[in-house]
Amino acid sequence: VENQRLDGVGSILRALRGAGRLTRQELAQASGMGRSQLLQRLDVLRELGIVEERLTSSSTGGRRPRAASIRPGQGHVLVAALGVTGVTVAAVDLSGRVVDTRQNSLEIALGPDRVLTECVRLLTDLTQANGLGPSWGMGISVPGPVDHQRGMVVSPPVMPGWDQFPIRDWLGDRFGTACWLDNDVNVMAVGEQRYGAGRGHDDFIFVKLGHGIGSGLVMGGVLQRGSRGCAGDIGHLPVMDAPVPCRCGNVGCLEAVAGGMALDAAAERLVLEGASRRLAELTAGRTAGVKDLVRAAELGDTTCLAVLQQAGDRIGAVLAHAVSLLNPSLVILGGGLLAVGDAMFTSMRKSLYGHALPLAARELVLTRTELGNTAAVLGIAEVVLDELFSPAHIESWWHRGAPAGLR
Ligand SMILES: [Zn+2]
Repeated sequence: VENQRLDGVGSILRALRGAGRLTRQELAQASGMGRSQLLQRLDVLRELGIVEERLTSSSTGGRRPRAASIRPGQGHVLVAALGVTGVTVAAVDLSGRVVDTRQNSLEIALGPDRVLTECVRLLTDLTQANGLGPSWGMGISVPGPVDHQRGMVVSPPVMPGWDQFPIRDWLGDRFGTACWLDNDVNVMAVGEQRYGAGRGHDDFIFVKLGHGIGSGLVMGGVLQRGSRGCAGDIGHLPVMDAPVPCRCGNVGCLEAVAGGMALDAAAERLVLEGASRRLAELTAGRTAGVKDLVRAAELGDTTCLAVLQQAGDRIGAVLAHAVSLLNPSLVILGGGLLAVGDAMFTSMRKSLYGHALPLAARELVLTRTELGNTAAVLGIAEVVLDELFSPAHIESWWHRGAPAGLR
């Protein structure tokens, strides 16, 4: 069929991924399409075998409406979520569900050849074990600033050896498919938006507190990347009273005084300076870290407690700036640092609500991630599925029936 109109197909599929099954009327509401436009797009999706429609079983006596759903097994995408110390890969079906996943601990500082080769190995293993055909597309998320046009990271502070390495094209070449690269916190925000704590919120900030500190901004229901892709880099906002050098090259960044690495270093410093006997006893000669800091504070060490409280205080104050500037309805916290106890969280909360503009703070909800480690995998898959069915991309493959094998 020539001259098919395909714009809006992506929003139909996005609504179906979120809801599972929707009637035509619900779909019209969710996608904002008129009836004839919606029916034409559904025809295309049925022909492609991606969507099926059935009469609903729950009848109130009147005419039973048709409900559409995605046929998940029609295709899949492959995704890899890279962290500082580990990699998770997954196959995700067209309904957004994880088919299977593999994990391995691997330092990102080993560089692109070692790390990406391991990703390929894990993805190949997963593909074979599940008898999957060629994937429809790929996505990879990394803990660094992403240049979207070129598909690479630029001057990434925690990814030595990766600067301007062509990550997207390298991986796409290996699997002979289209590939998208994104920042880890951005895709975690998308994961929470579609399947986690962000559902029902159009304006929220997802904050990852880990080795570093970063955030993803969803405003008006859309992930905001900014003009060069680094919107939301909250870890490098300045903390005025702390002239500590940051690995980004600046001085006094939030991450340099309150991130996981900074707190590891603070713990070690307390031991070396003999400032906390409790911490020295706990660690007994091995390197102290943020978890020891938390344990010592729980055992009543006021010096360690003060360090954690100050970190929470500073994170809260910087978050308050973001909240006053952007007025989100929700702040979602995620990342490994969250799991280390309540002292930091409590002072962060107090500082956030104390410093933010009263109107912005009044109905602001502060909550924790619902997805944890799966946020990145689900989020990068959403990015890939959105792209595959975007007007720009679907035009290039729909007449072939599937995008598998298309670069
Ligand atoms: Zn910095």
